[in-house]
Amino acid sequence: MKSQIHYDVTYGHLLTNELCTKYQGLKTLVVTDPTIKSNYGALFSRLNPNFLFTKTMEARILEQENQLLPPFDLVIGLGGGMAMDIAKFHAWESGKTLVQVPTAISVDAMFSYPIALRYDGKVKYVGEIIPEKIYCDFNILQSTPPVLNRSGICDLLSCHTALYDWQLGAEKGKSHLDAELYNKTATLLQEVKDQVDDIYQVTEKGIRLLMEGFKFVAVENYKIGHCQYEEGSEHFFYYCLEALTQKHFLHGKVINLGILLMSMLQDNKVQEIKAIIKKAGVPIHPGSMDISYDDIAQALRQCNAYVAEKGYSYSILNDKTITEDFINDAINTIKSEFDPTFQAK
Ligand SMILES: [Zn+2]
Repeated sequence: MKSQIHYDVTYGHLLTNELCTKYQGLKTLVVTDPTIKSNYGALFSRLNPNFLFTKTMEARILEQENQLLPPFDLVIGLGGGMAMDIAKFHAWESGKTLVQVPTAISVDAMFSYPIALRYDGKVKYVGEIIPEKIYCDFNILQSTPPVLNRSGICDLLSCHTALYDWQLGAEKGKSHLDAELYNKTATLLQEVKDQVDDIYQVTEKGIRLLMEGFKFVAVENYKIGHCQYEEGSEHFFYYCLEALTQKHFLHGKVINLGILLMSMLQDNKVQEIKAIIKKAGVPIHPGSMDISYDDIAQALRQCNAYVAEKGYSYSILNDKTITEDFINDAINTIKSEFDPTFQAK
């Protein structure tokens, strides 16, 4: 068990002014993408930054890139998950200060401290870094497409299926349940369910709830050394679907789909979770992810074997075999309740 970590999160409006004052005079590298630069880049002009647009976590490319960068003392990750992950790498590799400015809370990357690079596609954790500051700027977040922020609910709603899996593993003698953490997570999950409308509307309250929830998950993960309370069969289904299709998905779409399917497999408050997923307003039908119903069926067929092969923590996928009847039922549920192209008929 490791010690505590601390995150310094500032919430407010027009925080980039404060940021530029605090770090004035430092040579700055901003990791972002061209669209985000054109929308928000000028907010950092007092720091006279160099901008870096990278689109890969492939170690070989990032290491080369690091050698060629102009000198810098400060790295700002400005964007979604990819920008923040690449900013983490360059700050860590060069031993410099890291600041994160999310433009959307689509994933929990601003809090996740492991640096996960790809070596010919395979994930390897090479180090850890914690940002000196995270600026949660309501002006920036509320001006991005709402679906990107709504997507963030998935990494907390995942506790619905993950807590079930964690408890199941404990009953089977495969996992160790920490009752205090279980209860704290269940309380957080209930808050997320109760405040789904604020998350949908991307209110300040909704943004804070997601950010504070992500922070809780990261702090507890650091303490206990795993994240079984937040990551279970819903994420394992996604890893299987991604390996099968080789596609990149908006996290909220694919994880919310995983939560629906795995809570059906778990027989775990299915009506309740369906209602919450509908209210969250992130599409989960295959057309929204540029995949087919066949891809979903195929991933379901493979995922019992997939989790065993990968050795993921114990979940419903180790406990219950997915049958063709289940797959038919799952596909029909998505079509009739979550797919506008079928509902219109
Ligand atoms: Zn996730």
